Amino acid sequence: VTEYPLGRLAGLSVSARPSALIAFAATWLLGACAAFALGQPLLAALGAGLGVVVLHWLSEFVHQLGHAWAAQRTGHPMLGVRFWGLLSSSLYPPDEPALPGRVHVRRALGGPALSTVVVLGCGIIVQALAPAGGVALGLAWFAFLDNLLVFALGSFLPLGFTDGSALLHWWGKS
Ligand SMILES: [Zn+2]
Repeated sequence: VTEYPLGRLAGLSVSARPSALIAFAATWLLGACAAFALGQPLLAALGAGLGVVVLHWLSEFVHQLGHAWAAQRTGHPMLGVRFWGLLSSSLYPPDEPALPGRVHVRRALGGPALSTVVVLGCGIIVQALAPAGGVALGLAWFAFLDNLLVFALGSFLPLGFTDGSALLHWWGKS
């Protein structure tokens, strides 16, 4: 499977599948179209679209930092992050021994926990920017909703590859 190495960040080796690059471009385009439809001039709309891209992938990486931090604290650290589509996966050593369920549970909870903190921070920023309005407020709302619906609540949906699925699998197992 094709995978582009992107280097190391915060002690994690970061890589991306081609699907992440497609999602990146599509998100930029959709963000720009939305801003244009809301009345922004073309250049400002392109800038807003880029803002959406930066905020989404930054939120994604911060979510993974939550997993990495929790993993570090269990003594079974994470190795890296692989971006694919609009999302990403936490990478652990392939030769990891069988670990107790509580280690998997703590690692799985780390991401949504940190994303919840980000949601609260974004909520404060939305409040602060509300009087000014404009593109900055729009981006703050995007970051608030993206973190709330995708990285905090959404990560609990049992979709097979999510934190919710890991929790369902490992919860209560010794
Ligand atoms: Zn997660």
